[in-house]
Amino acid sequence: MKLKRASQRIAALLCAAALLVNLVSTAWAASAFLRVGSASAAPGETRSVYVSGSNLEALAGVEGIVSYDNTALELTGAAMVGAFSALGTVNTETAGQVSFNGACLDGISGSQSILRLDFRVRPDAAAGEYLLGILIENAYNTGLGTVSLSGAPGVFTVTEPQTTTKTLYFYSGSSVSTLHKGEQVSITARTYGSQGLAAGKLEFRYDAALFTCVAAEPLSALSGAVKSLDTSRAGYVSAAFASKEEIPGGELLRLTLEAVADVDADTSVTFAASELYDTALAAMNGVGFTRALTLRRAEVTPETPALRVTMPAAARTNETITAVAVLDSGSGLAAADFCISYDTALLTCTGVKVSAGMESVDGVCIETNPKIDGGQVKFTFICAKGFADGAELVTMTFQPKKEGAVTLTPAITTSAVGADRRPIALDMCAASCEVKDPFFEVTFRDEDGTVLSRQSVRYRTAATPPDAVKAPDEAHHYELAGWGGDYSSITADAEFTARYTAIPHTEAVDKAVEPTCTKTGLTEGKHCSVCSAVLVEQKVVPAKGHTEVIDKAVEPTCTETGLTEGKHCSVCSAVLVEQKVVSALGFTVSGSVDGVTDNAMVTLLKDGVVAARGDVRADGGFLLSGLRIGAGTYTLRVDGGGCVAWEMPVALSDDSGSANVACLLLRIGDVNGDGTGAEDALQCTLDLQTLYDYLALRQVPGSFCDSADAARNELLVRYFLRLADVNEDGQVDILDYQRLYLLARNG
Ligand SMILES: [Zn+2]
Ligand SMILES: [Zn+2]
Repeated sequence: MKLKRASQRIAALLCAAALLVNLVSTAWAASAFLRVGSASAAPGETRSVYVSGSNLEALAGVEGIVSYDNTALELTGAAMVGAFSALGTVNTETAGQVSFNGACLDGISGSQSILRLDFRVRPDAAAGEYLLGILIENAYNTGLGTVSLSGAPGVFTVTEPQTTTKTLYFYSGSSVSTLHKGEQVSITARTYGSQGLAAGKLEFRYDAALFTCVAAEPLSALSGAVKSLDTSRAGYVSAAFASKEEIPGGELLRLTLEAVADVDADTSVTFAASELYDTALAAMNGVGFTRALTLRRAEVTPETPALRVTMPAAARTNETITAVAVLDSGSGLAAADFCISYDTALLTCTGVKVSAGMESVDGVCIETNPKIDGGQVKFTFICAKGFADGAELVTMTFQPKKEGAVTLTPAITTSAVGADRRPIALDMCAASCEVKDPFFEVTFRDEDGTVLSRQSVRYRTAATPPDAVKAPDEAHHYELAGWGGDYSSITADAEFTARYTAIPHTEAVDKAVEPTCTKTGLTEGKHCSVCSAVLVEQKVVPAKGHTEVIDKAVEPTCTETGLTEGKHCSVCSAVLVEQKVVSALGFTVSGSVDGVTDNAMVTLLKDGVVAARGDVRADGGFLLSGLRIGAGTYTLRVDGGGCVAWEMPVALSDDSGSANVACLLLRIGDVNGDGTGAEDALQCTLDLQTLYDYLALRQVPGSFCDSADAARNELLVRYFLRLADVNEDGQVDILDYQRLYLLARNG
């Protein structure tokens, strides 16, 4: 506080000094000097201060510095003005100082302002007087001679703030100031600092007869705020905004306008800010601005009057095209023959008539040529006194033939003349039109209204009907009869609905199928041979299953194989349980051997061929079993070393299956059957006695003839005779006795 008061006191002293200087400079009125102007403003307000020269004489250049109190004043602008502005520069880089440098080749004399300084009083500036000092560094005249130029300071008086309400100033930025129709201008509203601004309403007003609003955009300063924009009213754009935080200084809102009037006019766009509140919800004043704009009429070069053909730029092949021949005003046309050409491949001319307005115009005669179908529409214009108005002369109608770019080209066939019968200049302006086929929406519906197909169809082409079927019912099937209309050449949006013809079913019998043991059958059914609808359904008949029959088992015999029990189906013969073959049992021959059993063998022979062979056990028994041989009578032979082979018939039949035989095996000479023969001389004595008895009495020993079985006895007797035939000559006689005797004696 003390410091501030001190600075105010210094400022007051400086002001006193300034007043003194002013008095002095007044006293030196004859000499040249530069004076800084004085101003008075409240905090927040802006004032411009001019530096002006007095008593100047051909001053060609000056350099100097204006100083100001940077703590109280904010420099918002500085520029050389007047004659020094062209070659003048200012430097405001140093706070509290403005260095200026002005020059003017012709020099200036008398009194003139050379420098403008814009100051804004800082919001917190204390009331008081602040010196605006000036120091002249260099000054020279047109002769480049140094000029004595003194400086006179000014005073900037800061008054007490008028209210406690903060005032926020808004400034404009603008892209251009002079516009022509169709050109755009952007005007930006901005602030320098915001003094805590938090909410408010911003409004632009402009002349809606001259401009349209192209865009209104909130800018960076409002980027953090909630905002709404209203551009719905002509000539007025408003933006409301609100933010919890202080809105930063800078650009707030940009309005872009487009000039729509081709006029010369001076107009302006005004910007106002209202309902401003700071972050403490205290109301603030807003000072807006007015931006002057100048509208200039577009320069137009005068044109030669023309005969113009006009018609729509686009047309459809299904519609006629109306074209008009128009004469510009100011032609002064008195007479001419015109011909308007068209392409007969694309257009047919369907009519030409003099435009209604022209028939009643006095002195004007328009004759049309009835031959209009050859690609040329001709007419003659006559107005003896010259026709100065603009008017429609003739109206033509054309029917397009197909798609294409059509052009109507006017031409003068006999030169156009004015009222003085001298040729006049008349431009010919053709017109073009793009002719396109239209497309129509075609809908195909089923009988019940269901949309089956919706398609876009080119004018005069065919629509493509969809597939349409109606399900058969009990009595009928249905054939598509048509769509209730011609869709081969579409010329408008259209709907078609399917029509069906009911046709009775054609019955066809589905034959019954008998079931088999394993496969199902079917009952008789019926269907329609045309649409295949089932009229009587065929029902499945279950399979019958097999009828089982037992195949009896066959017992095997000795020689024949047997079979196990099986099952088969008597209907289809399928084997259900397979019969298995049981092997043949085979024959068994067993028996016992009396006498010699050591190394004895048994052989079964059939017609001299060995059928089976086996060993004789020590106890004399033997067994030939499982013999896979045929039934019949075999010879059983028992052999042993030094023994007479025993042979006997054995009958094998399927009935018996086996045979059990008693055999005898004795060494040669053992005629008494005691088991020893000539190898034992002592026992052999008994054999000699028995042989002697046989030779003398023909008496067979009892052991060879006592069987009750006659056939057995016969075998035994025959075996005895072979035992007794010791010399093996086929006879039993004394020579056998002699031989046995010698064998026993010699051992
Ligand atoms: Zn059918
Ligand atoms: Zn079967």
